[in-house]
Amino acid sequence: MLDRSTIWPYDMEGEPGEFYYARYGSPTVAEAEARLGGLDRGTALLFPSGAGATTALALALLHPGDTIALAAGCYFGTGVTFATLERWGIRHVEFDQTGPPPQGVQLVWLEAPSNPFLTMPDLEAAVAQAAPVVVDATVATPVHLRPLEHGADFVLHSATKYLAGHDDALLGAVVCRDPRAAEELRDFRGRTGIVAAPDPAWLLLRGLHTLELRVQRQTQTAAALAERLRSHPKVAAVRHPGIGGLLSFDVAGAEEARRVETATRLIVNATSLGGVTSVLESRARWEGDRVPAGLLRLSAGLEDPDALWADLEQALERASAVTTS
Ligand code: PLP
Repeated sequence: MLDRSTIWPYDMEGEPGEFYYARYGSPTVAEAEARLGGLDRGTALLFPSGAGATTALALALLHPGDTIALAAGCYFGTGVTFATLERWGIRHVEFDQTGPPPQGVQLVWLEAPSNPFLTMPDLEAAVAQAAPVVVDATVATPVHLRPLEHGADFVLHSATKYLAGHDDALLGAVVCRDPRAAEELRDFRGRTGIVAAPDPAWLLLRGLHTLELRVQRQTQTAAALAERLRSHPKVAAVRHPGIGGLLSFDVAGAEEARRVETATRLIVNATSLGGVTSVLESRARWEGDRVPAGLLRLSAGLEDPDALWADLEQALERASAVTTS
């Protein structure tokens, strides 16, 4: 049920009940948190966006002088968020998440799979060291991976993506293994006000009804498109880890990538991922030379896979027709 109230009456004795002021908790947000917590087998807390969840978790856990070991090639914006926190004395170093994290850090931040390089973290190596481990499982979703069951301390989601799933809700989540850590983070959230609103939480509840069906279909479609792209003469590298609806591939360079992304008809040329509509974009526009100039990221939606392939094929064809003419 969508409850947009910000206040709820005290009880007959004049004492606050479970809900009394929306910054400290509200019924729709709590219901969505309970559902997501059930899927990830932990205690979930919602935040206004994935980046908001990242900021809240980093500030709640760390002190000035602390260092985060961040998976190289993970979501570009996470590094931007951490760089913004440097002013407050929180540093980050990048490492190859397919191996063990560096020693002596205060937090390890992994991504499963990384966006847009699609590597999977070595979770076993990460949880063997002392610092708390966060896994951004936005792309895997609980359908494919429940990091808490592998010893991670926190799962982070941009719920904007697969969890809500329809490109109409901006939302983030942290799922905690330890209920006491969850209480501390809830307390921090209430005090700092980095709290989710009921409307996107309600859209999350609606999206979760179809999460498994959507993600299974998107995974199948992404795997099928990756396979076909692998044998396409214009495509140099194809990345898809076998799980999730996200893939990336390289064409000859920046100009060719721009031509491909603007030549699709069914696939929308837009950013983001995880929605019911397939989207494609060149990532160099955002990430610069951190990614190959011709890298295209494709998020498979729920359209007919053959129609998606036909669209990609004609876009690759048209882009190269311009090159050779
Ligand atoms: N984590 C990953 C893997 C993402 O792809 C994104 C957004 O693209 C985020 C976090 C940030 O989420 P939001 O855009 O909801 O703030």
